[in-house]
Amino acid sequence: MNKAFCKEPDSTLPPRCPKCGNDGAQVSIQTLLGHVQAQDAQSLGEPAYCCTTDSCDIAYFDLLERSIGLAAATHFFWPKDLAGPLCSCHGLTCDDIDLDLAEGTPTRVRAVVQQAGLPGADCAIRSADGRSCVGRVQRYYMRRKTGA
Ligand SMILES: [Zn+2]
Repeated sequence: MNKAFCKEPDSTLPPRCPKCGNDGAQVSIQTLLGHVQAQDAQSLGEPAYCCTTDSCDIAYFDLLERSIGLAAATHFFWPKDLAGPLCSCHGLTCDDIDLDLAEGTPTRVRAVVQQAGLPGADCAIRSADGRSCVGRVQRYYMRRKTGA
């Protein structure tokens, strides 16, 4: 049996984006439907993957290298959508983080991290990569804080 066609993904071997070649993040069909048209979602096989590379214009792809471009996707997160929020679930943006840094207390970041850990947080559906936004928020915060 060819593992690539099993329903269960082989977690030791994440598939690569057909355009940028980076590992994808597996997403559920609910996540996919939250960000693309139903007919586009149906053009991909399961499991589908989100390309999380900042500069790549591929939104989703599957094991057979079929893909959906960013232009056909909605509600993507920054920086894939430069006008998008860092946290799709709570609407936290880069500007909010800059405000936190200007004030010297990460009030907004802390609130999001706390909320994301609560039951009922629906990051997995609202975030385009099907993952909690906390990692992305923290990464951006540290990047701005250290000036890197
Ligand atoms: Zn890519």
